[in-house]
Amino acid sequence: MRYFNLFSTIFITKGAGRILISDLQRNVSELYPLELYEMIEELKNLSIEEMFEMYDEDSKNAVQEYVDILLENEYGFITENDWDKNFPPLSHEYLEPNTINDLFIEITDFSLLNDLRISIENLEIKHLVIYSSKSLTKEDFVNIDKIFESSVLSGIEIFSPFHEEIDYLFILDLNNTTERIYSLIFYNCAQEPFKVKDEFKFTVHFAEDDLKISACGKVDMKYFNTNLSKVLEAINHNSCLHKKIGIDWNGNIKNCPLMQENFGNIQEISLEKLMLQVTFKKYWNLTKDHIKVCKDCEFRYICTDCRAYTEQSHYDPDGLDISKPLKCGYNPYTTEWEEWSTHPLKQKAIHFYNL
Ligand code: SF4
Ligand code: SF4
Repeated sequence: MRYFNLFSTIFITKGAGRILISDLQRNVSELYPLELYEMIEELKNLSIEEMFEMYDEDSKNAVQEYVDILLENEYGFITENDWDKNFPPLSHEYLEPNTINDLFIEITDFSLLNDLRISIENLEIKHLVIYSSKSLTKEDFVNIDKIFESSVLSGIEIFSPFHEEIDYLFILDLNNTTERIYSLIFYNCAQEPFKVKDEFKFTVHFAEDDLKISACGKVDMKYFNTNLSKVLEAINHNSCLHKKIGIDWNGNIKNCPLMQENFGNIQEISLEKLMLQVTFKKYWNLTKDHIKVCKDCEFRYICTDCRAYTEQSHYDPDGLDISKPLKCGYNPYTTEWEEWSTHPLKQKAIHFYNL
């Protein structure tokens, strides 16, 4: 008898109307109809021959077609006997030794980075995201990178307005003189100064829009991320705020710079002391399985959970906001995407956030 075995790196998320099959080794996800989910569940216990016996001729063909799809996409393999117990499932535990992974700062004064360097080391922060509303010179970029020379920090992403000095040589120079910058986003750029190829050690993106920091939190398929570590984090913790610190342009420390609640000012409290405040971590373990609508969405483990902009419609008994992210137009019950900003039920929250 032939048995179908799913590879342990294949992760299936069941939504209200569809399923998402994520290949955590290849970092890709594909959508399929719900009936495939039922069939995969049956294939866990029955041989393919036993499945054929259960169904009429039409359904048999459907079973064969689905098995072919599963094999073509290399989601699994066939064995002659039931070998399932010999292939232990992948652990979905998320273990991360760093106290903090991400620091997201809206910056106006770069001396703040010098002050934060020790805390970044102590908390073993991995990624620094800087949003600057001020145009940065080449020296600014180099100096930011230099502050973290021989630091635990592994990467820096910088959002900065585009200006006329930025050309191919400007970027090439940064490529030769910086180490930790992995992403540069120049916004407010009417015209791309040159075509970017894969020649730099960081990614470079020129955005036409005047990218305000408040643009963060948009939910779109192009931002979904099928990455083993991100998916495991989303299964166990909040996919945006877990192990994240935000500092807004006033120096207020928050879960992200756009959140309303602030936990003190960086001039008065160190990031290390902040870690002792239990309330700072209250959103860290809120997964999408507890968020209204998202809990029924097939994208819930590859989608970022924005808590700064929500529909403000539901709160749990501890007062945590468990409403759907405001900037998402997806309806998992109809499997349709709509424009979120004109949705009548979102207008009150849009007005509240002044978007
Ligand atoms: S409904 Fe929730 S999980 Fe689904 S795409 Fe929107 S924000 Fe993401
Ligand atoms: S909570 Fe929302 S606004 Fe804040 S970083 Fe996450 S996605 Fe962006």
